[in-house]
Amino acid sequence: MSLFGKIFKTGIITERFDAYSDAEMNQVGAELRRVVDRRFSGNLVIRQVDPGSCNGCELEINALGNGFYDIERYGISFAASPRHADVLLVTGPVARHMQAALLATYEATPDPKWVVAVGDCAVNAGEFGQTYASCGAVEQVIPVDLVIPGCPPTPLSLMKGLLKLAGQ
Ligand code: SF4
Repeated sequence: MSLFGKIFKTGIITERFDAYSDAEMNQVGAELRRVVDRRFSGNLVIRQVDPGSCNGCELEINALGNGFYDIERYGISFAASPRHADVLLVTGPVARHMQAALLATYEATPDPKWVVAVGDCAVNAGEFGQTYASCGAVEQVIPVDLVIPGCPPTPLSLMKGLLKLAGQ
């Protein structure tokens, strides 16, 4: 079969994208902007910490910065150092060889600070459980202020979680 014949016969095989309505995202975003302006002088800074994730959660966190979600427009930014952060966004179970690094990161973050456990692994050890190689959930190592479950949580779930945290 010719290439063109194959194209016409196959049709469209990509999945339909049921995007969140812009209205819902815009509503959560506007509320975030209002709360961040009021409680954090317009800028809530996050340091993301991965002490053992499969990177699925990171992909969704990373999506917060793309052109669709563009979370910086709501006053939320990511920092390269915990010393500049208000919030630690921690993913994955805590691998034992990362336990000391997570503790050091927590201690390096100035007060007041908040810890958000992102994804089922961070919340309850998820797929990986607690083993000789894994401390399990984040709360086994540092105090947790908010959990955002999901495997992985969607960017909109992350925005809703941050809104809940900022509004506390
Ligand atoms: S919650 Fe799911 S996506 Fe996130 S680190 Fe665990 S297995 Fe990976």
